Amino acid sequence: MQVWKFGGTSVGKPERMHSIRTLITSDDQQKIIVLSALSGTTNALLSIAESLKSDQPDEAAEKVEHLKAHYDSFVRELYKTSEGLGNGQKIVENEFSYIRSLTRIRPFTLKQEKELVAEGELLSTQMFQAYLEEAGEDSILLPALEFMRVDADGEPELDFTERKLRELLRSHGGRKLIVTQGFICRNPRGEVDNLKRGGSDYTASLIGGAIRADEIQIWTDIDGMHNNDPRIVKNTFPIRALTFEEAAELAYFGAKILHPSTITPAKMFGVPVRLKNTMDPGAEGTLIASKTSDQVFKAVAAKDGITALYIHSLRMLNAYGFLRRIFEVFEKYKTPVDLIATSEVSVSVTIDKTDNLTDLMAELRTFCDLEEPDYDQTIVCIVGNFSADHAGVALQVLKALEGIPIRMISYGGTEHNISLLMHGRYKAEALNALNEGLFNLKEA
Ligand code: ADP
Ligand code: ASP
Ligand code: MG
Repeated sequence: MQVWKFGGTSVGKPERMHSIRTLITSDDQQKIIVLSALSGTTNALLSIAESLKSDQPDEAAEKVEHLKAHYDSFVRELYKTSEGLGNGQKIVENEFSYIRSLTRIRPFTLKQEKELVAEGELLSTQMFQAYLEEAGEDSILLPALEFMRVDADGEPELDFTERKLRELLRSHGGRKLIVTQGFICRNPRGEVDNLKRGGSDYTASLIGGAIRADEIQIWTDIDGMHNNDPRIVKNTFPIRALTFEEAAELAYFGAKILHPSTITPAKMFGVPVRLKNTMDPGAEGTLIASKTSDQVFKAVAAKDGITALYIHSLRMLNAYGFLRRIFEVFEKYKTPVDLIATSEVSVSVTIDKTDNLTDLMAELRTFCDLEEPDYDQTIVCIVGNFSADHAGVALQVLKALEGIPIRMISYGGTEHNISLLMHGRYKAEALNALNEGLFNLKEA
């Protein structure tokens, strides 16, 4: 079985849903189809939540009706028969009456916000399933809320998914097409929750791992993973093959095409991930598996919103166990560390989760000196094949970035990643300079 995931733009117009049907029925392979919300819907739902949180119910109601009008016209184009249209309209009416009821709850808490934001995927999948039914396809809708669950730390419970999915597939698995929602799940309290923005990729990979799929395909609006961020750099090209490790680094360090955690379950079970373009299905895309090419530089990505902390203590000099004490504080405040640089008496680290920063810093100050943190930093990550016998790799990177102030460098953590920290204002310049210096591509 294969798992195919279609993102927001891939389902964002009725004609796109028509093309998806053609794509998923072009062979006899049994597939699980994971769908995102229609493009723009998750943002619209979050914006409704913002209005409610800031006590602007009229503004929220206006946004709800505006979004509903979009769905009303969408279903008019999606279905071909009056029966199909009737079913589509019923789905939209039901979900929007639920959305309206959510907006009336006071106080409007995070629990309601998560229920509201889940409506995007609940709408898109029901509408698509009704369209497949209208077209006479052999399909069924499996509710993700029955088999996707996260633990108290927001981490997916893969064992639960595996067990539940097996049960559900045993009862419904005869169908050729099994449609389900990306992104949404339940938490240990049984409430509706989600896998964070862009989480439908992660759903697809978790399902692919759980059922040991032959392949996971992520269908999006671009022809695979590019060598650089196409939103910032004009002259980029698709990469044909990446290893799980290379793709994981790129996803984690900002390549938006994949949710940061997507590769973990696929790698765990050795399930290849193929990135494909819904707008150009014939394009080769990118295959993420165990093999790599021996090309030195593969790709560049950047992750924004980074905070750098500078920790000093003379007691570190020749002492052991000091780093452990420091990192215990990060563990206590559930704050992952990305980059680390050390000298004999100092440690610099970067973090992107700052909700516990004040407490974390107060605790570090009980046994260390802290400089003022640097905010709004960006990690630029270069991925490739940097085995120890390749000379000149770091030189080439630093030469490309000549003239850009660099705050930290991490080299040697793995054989396939060099990461640099700089202020966010230099990001675009750095990505363009690396495109020229590492890939010989001048700005178009
Ligand atoms: P979807 O809605 O299908 O999940 P996303 O918008 O989340 O799509 O991801 C696709 C987008 O990721 C592309 O349109 C592109 O702008 C952006 N992107 C950022 N970095 C890269 C990269 N290195 N390669 C390809 N796309 C990238
Ligand atoms: N709809 C969700 C989002 O916009 C999940 C996804 O598209 O992957 O973040
Ligand atoms: Mg996405």
